[in-house]
Amino acid sequence: MRDGFLPFSPPCLDEDEIAEVSESLRSGWITTGPKCRAFEAALAARLGSPAALAVNSCTAALHTALAVLGVGPGDEVITSALTFCSTVSVIEHVGATPVLVDVEPDTLNLDPAAVAAAVSERTRVLLPVHYGGHPCDMDALWAVARKHDLAVLEDAAHALPARYRGRWIGQGDNPVAFSFYATKNVTTGEGGMLTGAPEFIDEARIASLHGMSRDAWRRHAKGGSWYYEVVMPGFKYNLPDVLAAIGLAQLRKLDRMQARRREVVAAYTAALADLPLRLPVQRPECESAWHLYSVRLLPEAPVGRDEFVQRLAAANIGTSVHFIPIHYHPYYREKYGWQPGAFPVTEEAYRGLVSLPLHGGLATEGLERIVEAAVQAIGAK
Ligand SMILES: *Cc1c(COP(=O)(O)O)cnc(C)c1O
Repeated sequence: MRDGFLPFSPPCLDEDEIAEVSESLRSGWITTGPKCRAFEAALAARLGSPAALAVNSCTAALHTALAVLGVGPGDEVITSALTFCSTVSVIEHVGATPVLVDVEPDTLNLDPAAVAAAVSERTRVLLPVHYGGHPCDMDALWAVARKHDLAVLEDAAHALPARYRGRWIGQGDNPVAFSFYATKNVTTGEGGMLTGAPEFIDEARIASLHGMSRDAWRRHAKGGSWYYEVVMPGFKYNLPDVLAAIGLAQLRKLDRMQARRREVVAAYTAALADLPLRLPVQRPECESAWHLYSVRLLPEAPVGRDEFVQRLAAANIGTSVHFIPIHYHPYYREKYGWQPGAFPVTEEAYRGLVSLPLHGGLATEGLERIVEAAVQAIGAK
């Protein structure tokens, strides 16, 4: 095992998840039902969220939230140039126009000054992404939102659990979307959660399941009625109980997994400090969820990012890159005519950007191997 492959972010699963899933399968109710409700309640309790809705992806949560906000053609949504494609594709799905802005050099989060400059008559929503699990500068973003009467929808795919000025991301009344994709801090294989004000979440629940005024669990459970009404052309975004079961077990071990993430982060930061790398930071008013440990090879490093990734792969170490800037993708480049140079901080970061393995199950032996390999990969020309 000494030289075995060290994956970038494997899920931390054990008998607890298996027992929860077995219970769900044996119960005879495998789609949205009691496990989902328990998962929603557990996440809302963990974060102090006013209400929560389980869905089958973060992308679904974002799309549902934009639909419930009533965002549509003619509207603009401001988001980060350095994010996963689905943050932006959901804006396209509702027929609105994405307005990309650049990020701040230390956190790689939405730059509030750039956001303020990008606001127009048509802006409806700010869609900040908590990059790597580090909260955005929410006070500055809310100041812009309040001034122009904009909604704030947070992409918190990386930010479970993260705190900004002592409050959890997902604790407020505004909509916040989480991801339980296989690589995320908490996983259900595929899954997501939308938190927010109770009335908003009630509407989102209807929108996420065919626009039906009553969900299947309440119709098909004992005492339920066959009758329902369709009040809007809704989506099919509900989370099955079999997957919510995995999430319930994951939430119970979240603190343990986070503690290990912080140990790994501290070890990386100590071991890599003298290399030609820009390391991730944590601002004093923030507590990062440490979803990613993304380093940036500095221009003076003797090796480029692609070669660095290849050398780590040759040493049997998985890495990833978060993210290819949105305006580099052909669809967006061609549709909006964004040119290279449009978002200089994003582009400069991307040139050297690479995420090292970071997960709640990373053992010290593996960690030492990664550090050793990283030092070697940078050192030699
Ligand atoms: C993973 C991710 C998403 C999408 O999450 P899914 O649950 O796979 O839909 C959205 N935004 C960011 C920043 C992500 O990393």
